[in-house]
Amino acid sequence: MKNSTLEPQKDPMGQAIADYHKNGKAAKLRVLSSMFYEDEIPVATLFRSFEKMSAIEQEMIRLSKGRTLDVGAGSGCHSVVLQSRGHNVVAIDISELSVAVMKERGVDARLTNLFDETFTEKFDTIIMAMNGIGIVGKTDRMEEFFRCAKRLLNPGGQILLDSSDIRYIFENEDGSMDIDLAAGYYGEVDFNMRYKNIKGESFDWLYIDFDTLCFYANENGFECEKCLDGEHYDYLAKISLKE
Ligand code: SAH
Repeated sequence: MKNSTLEPQKDPMGQAIADYHKNGKAAKLRVLSSMFYEDEIPVATLFRSFEKMSAIEQEMIRLSKGRTLDVGAGSGCHSVVLQSRGHNVVAIDISELSVAVMKERGVDARLTNLFDETFTEKFDTIIMAMNGIGIVGKTDRMEEFFRCAKRLLNPGGQILLDSSDIRYIFENEDGSMDIDLAAGYYGEVDFNMRYKNIKGESFDWLYIDFDTLCFYANENGFECEKCLDGEHYDYLAKISLKE
């Protein structure tokens, strides 16, 4: 839902962030999916400093200019770094627990869903780190995403985001693909998280390759430029309104 937020009982990642913030340690944050083997997010990485960030994230911070919106900010790690460098930053997240942690860390954090049309402040830069575009869920919501971007960006503003082309997961050695093309875009994934006894609800998460991202950006009146390639099919993109 457009304006929905996450209550603590349904928010494994928020609980993990709250525990780590309070105690300097957390239990296992498990990630399940119908498409992948079970995985884990090391909670300490959600609190990474600038030095611990990937080259892509460091570049995202360097390219940020003007009033900046950190979307799906989590523990607020990027907001904290940007703020320490003198940027004016607002962080939004749907997690009540994460927003409370960010406020304690001195971040101007709001319990706000990106798709909430009543959120109408304006920004020069929107950052979406750790595959933040994932919150769009499926490619058929890209149009809605760009509508939000138009609402939130000042003239000359930019979106900085990182994502990955996950086709390597489905690719055979001979280059053929083990995917059902009729089933939709291959980067549409479902996830579900668990932390202690808290089970989150399953949610859609989108990984989008650079060409597909450009296609949707162009269709919706935006320009898309690659700023950096990562080490493993990941990349940093800059999206801005066509002049
Ligand atoms: N950017 C952070 C955290 C990434 S995890 C980092 O790089 O460490 C993704 C975050 O997005 C979670 O905290 C989740 O609560 C938040 N989120 C999910 N859907 C959202 C939405 N529609 N609007 C705003 N935040 C959202």
